[in-house]
Amino acid sequence: MVMSLAAQHAKGKFAQDKIFGANAAAVAAAAKYGKENVVNATIGAILDENENLVCLPTVEKVYRSLATNELIAYAPISGLPEYLEGVVTAAFGESRPDAHIAAVATAGGTGAIHHAIWNYQSEGDTVLCSDWFWGAYKVLCADMHRNFTTYKMLDENNKFNLPALKEKVDELLAKQDNLLYILNTPAHNPTGYSLSEEDMDGVLGVLKEAATTGKNIILFLDVAYIDYAGEKEEVRKIFKKLGGLPANILTIVGYSMSKGFTLYGQRTGAMIGVSSSEEVIKEFADINQYTSRATWSNINRPAMRTLSVIYNDADLLAAVCKERDDYYQMIKARADIFTQEAKECGLPMLPYVAGFFLSIPAKNPDAICEKLHEENIFAVPLAAGVRIAVCAVPQRKIKGMAAKVMAAMQSVGE
Ligand code: PLP
Repeated sequence: MVMSLAAQHAKGKFAQDKIFGANAAAVAAAAKYGKENVVNATIGAILDENENLVCLPTVEKVYRSLATNELIAYAPISGLPEYLEGVVTAAFGESRPDAHIAAVATAGGTGAIHHAIWNYQSEGDTVLCSDWFWGAYKVLCADMHRNFTTYKMLDENNKFNLPALKEKVDELLAKQDNLLYILNTPAHNPTGYSLSEEDMDGVLGVLKEAATTGKNIILFLDVAYIDYAGEKEEVRKIFKKLGGLPANILTIVGYSMSKGFTLYGQRTGAMIGVSSSEEVIKEFADINQYTSRATWSNINRPAMRTLSVIYNDADLLAAVCKERDDYYQMIKARADIFTQEAKECGLPMLPYVAGFFLSIPAKNPDAICEKLHEENIFAVPLAAGVRIAVCAVPQRKIKGMAAKVMAAMQSVGE
């Protein structure tokens, strides 16, 4: 028997991260065969056409110009007040919902998801998400003793599968008082899918109907990739729809500075509560601040200050938006090449709209990824397919990749 000192609930836990595993294999191959001969499509961060990690220049300039006190001092537990104002504007743009709103600073977008699961689900409750999902959701649920279930995200025509969502919502509400539904849009990880405005109307219709049961519905809108999802105001129009919902529906928008500001390691984000009830929002601010105190205390002050400086200066903001847009275009050009070539060689793909990743549906993702290693191509095997990080692969290496994935699929008998 393995000796264990861990408490009962912690025994046997370890985060088996396929993404970091696949990345490590790619790094080893690059050392052996030369970087130019290896395609590393595992990394969830923007690499430029020279495969260097991108930092938005204006973000870097603002961050590096901060006074030492701003770099080192504590921040208030809920976040710097100027940050909390700025982050609401950053998230909603011109589509601020007509509702009561409060923001709480969190350790990245992950921190926002953590607090939502902890504070809006009881032990043994089941969190709802689509069948294509970011793996960390499930780990977060398991660590807090919440179950995790999924509905089929797309129907046979590759359209958003509203009936499947409705069925799961009804099923869960028959068993529990609070439903937490995590919806990652726009520019979904891992597929690059974005819900249309009509899809969003459909989702809110399902949730409003569910709310007539008198139970509590919490919609967690994970918008981690919103700044690379398309035209800035266009992609934010969905937020207008969050006003005027019944008081027993709370929307929590999970915002992250990781991608939008290229500050991944600075661990800064926010959860923004939106409700027609002032009491629900007061409670939201109170309980989540409390949980911050009880987990990480306060978060990264200089990253919060960087956002507030940028959002209080029209020129800086315009510069950041331009820089983001350039990288959005760069990623889009890569995805366009892959999509076009996939079409040409008959490789199936989930519908990609925007974002860091695209996905290939498959029955044997592990076998396909292993086969691709022979070509020095490294991607991430998921439960239902293979994820390709177009954010990290330069155009010259994207070219020809779809055909190689197709060949790998065929050779493992897909
Ligand atoms: N949500 C999704 C879907 C993500 O892919 C990520 C990062 O990879 C996040 C949220 C949050 O990231 P972070 O905690 O770095 O802000």
